[in-house]
Amino acid sequence: CGIFAYLNYQIVASRQEILDKLVNGLKRLEYRGYDSAGIAFQECFNEDCDCFIKIIKQTGKVAALEQLVSENKDSVDFSKELDIHVGIAHTRWATHGEPSPTNAHPHRSDPHNEFAIVHNGIITNYKDIKSFLSQKGHKFETETDTEVVAKLLKHLFDAHKDQKIKFRELVELTVAQLEGAFAIAVISKHYPGDIVATRRGSPLLIGVKSKNKLSTDHIPVMFSKDHRGVLGASTSRRTDEETEYHSAGPEKEIEYFFASDASAIIEHTDQVIYLEENDVATVHEGSLNIHQATRSLNESTSREIITLK
Ligand code: GLU
Repeated sequence: CGIFAYLNYQIVASRQEILDKLVNGLKRLEYRGYDSAGIAFQECFNEDCDCFIKIIKQTGKVAALEQLVSENKDSVDFSKELDIHVGIAHTRWATHGEPSPTNAHPHRSDPHNEFAIVHNGIITNYKDIKSFLSQKGHKFETETDTEVVAKLLKHLFDAHKDQKIKFRELVELTVAQLEGAFAIAVISKHYPGDIVATRRGSPLLIGVKSKNKLSTDHIPVMFSKDHRGVLGASTSRRTDEETEYHSAGPEKEIEYFFASDASAIIEHTDQVIYLEENDVATVHEGSLNIHQATRSLNESTSREIITLK
């Protein structure tokens, strides 16, 4: 039902501040209605970024989650000061699978939390994907449609291990297999400090907060290679030259807020970008990129950074 995600780049903050940001983001989304709430956040402990993802989720009110977060925070060694903090958060309105702590989001790809995902909407072909992945040996722990996305991310990551696929490409490959409506945000221990978010049929916007004036008022949209048919037989590849053009950032001390609606962002910044259908937004090393997996003729080639009133 509600997505909130937060990433800061080169802002020294305590873990408590990060957890508070995530929980407060969810509080702003409470009015939409929900039955469960949860957060996942990433911590990198050393230069090699040996990081892991911690997931805390609960049925009931965000206040109940907040209580659980405060009980849990000591179980993580929060001794180091970090350059990048990233977390995703969710309020769930169950469509597939009863409200329960296990069915609450974020969902994970595997017991080691290699990938964690929050999702709004419904994946209508989840049964097909679930049986495909079950045949491949993936063990499901929830009744949700969302869990197939987490497992599919890991499945495709493992299948591309030798090529060291980019996080964005992995998400594009994954969502190319999905039918239905979704807004999604993903973090991964394999891509420390990064976040990828995308939408189709469900809203998602990004708030940008920077100490300095942003060097641009629009984000050019890059067109990705065509990834359709990855699970199936043929993969047709687009010939578009793909540029890794860093459009917002990297600026020092920049923060990004992802949310289903502006009410969770406005207290932090009034500079926002509304993602369009099939936009894939990636923050990597503090820079925001927006890609389009599909190109239509009258597609605009940039997303404006607008000022909320
Ligand atoms: N279909 C997903 C579920 O039941 C997401 C529901 C939502 O948008 O909150 O878990």
